[in-house]
Amino acid sequence: MFTEKKEIDTINHIKEIILQNNEFVIISHTNPDGDAIGSSFALYNTLINMNKKAQVIIPNDCPDFLKWIAGYDSILLFQKQKKQSIEAINKAQVIIMVDFNSLERIEDIKPFLENNDKTKIIIDHHPNPNTEFINYIISEPSASSASELVYRVLYSAGFDNYIDKNVAESIYIGIITDTGNLTHNSSNPLTYQIIGNLLKKGINKSLIHELTFNVNSASRLMLLGKLLSQNMKILTEYSTAYMYITLEDQKKYNFTTGDSEGFVNYPLSIKGIKFCALFTENEDVIKISFRSKHKIPANLFSQKHFNGGGHLNAAGGRIKLSLNEALTKFEEHLPEFKEFLI
Ligand code: 5GP
Ligand code: MN
Repeated sequence: MFTEKKEIDTINHIKEIILQNNEFVIISHTNPDGDAIGSSFALYNTLINMNKKAQVIIPNDCPDFLKWIAGYDSILLFQKQKKQSIEAINKAQVIIMVDFNSLERIEDIKPFLENNDKTKIIIDHHPNPNTEFINYIISEPSASSASELVYRVLYSAGFDNYIDKNVAESIYIGIITDTGNLTHNSSNPLTYQIIGNLLKKGINKSLIHELTFNVNSASRLMLLGKLLSQNMKILTEYSTAYMYITLEDQKKYNFTTGDSEGFVNYPLSIKGIKFCALFTENEDVIKISFRSKHKIPANLFSQKHFNGGGHLNAAGGRIKLSLNEALTKFEEHLPEFKEFLI
């Protein structure tokens, strides 16, 4: 149950690796979201329950609403705790990476993983993983989340006894945050069977939703209001809309990491809009989030023009231009994307 045939061999290898080793490092991507943190701490808590040593390392911090996850206090942030992080990586026998498909997404951690003989495992749901340096890969783009895949691996490896309430909470948070609260990427009945099992582990579904979604600051909602009313452009001809957040907006609305989480989705709720983007101005780079509907390849657009990638319907990228130049570039490239947009 919960295992694709093609995954059985890899899961058996991963099972043996977990049983035979004692020191694990778990790594996820820059600007970690609910799935990055959820899948990391699902593994962390399981390994701790198995009396193993485990350390989660993430390049930078996650939004506050994820920090109540069991084990979060033990996290190492590579940007702030570089020495400790490198020591942990050097000591580890096994490195498990979750929720990303290319070492570029862990930025400065990358060089410390490339040339060593540690066993490296990736469990991820992004298409086209870059498999260089990786020994074992569970790659399933149809999965709702990396967290769901972590559950499938742990369950299929026979570790269900070690999946306690803490592990179940982590997995559930990953699933609901990566599917827009079970809106997209969540039509596989398997996902709901897994959620059923998580509920049997005693998770408090209502409390998790409360702690995950009803934690807006007033300034975050005011910023959203500003974007929707003044910083949004709708390009009806291309069924496209975009929004942007300037440095000035960030100052005015006390912007902190994660404050714009989910904003990018709003334009897609406008009737007729099928492709949208959110541009965020930083001191030295513009970060962009893309979202699309149906078969419109947001990842392809980002890869071609904004140095990024991601999923078909949710992608991200970055570009070293001024905000205005980045917006112009976006508009200029829409015509070549028209076949997908109309
Ligand atoms: P978000 O818009 O939430 O930051 O990112 C959406 C998805 O796009 C992420 O799940 C991730 O798969 C992908 N993504 C975001 N930024 C990048 C990037 O810089 N490079 C690549 N390859 N993918 C990205
Ligand atoms: Mn994910």
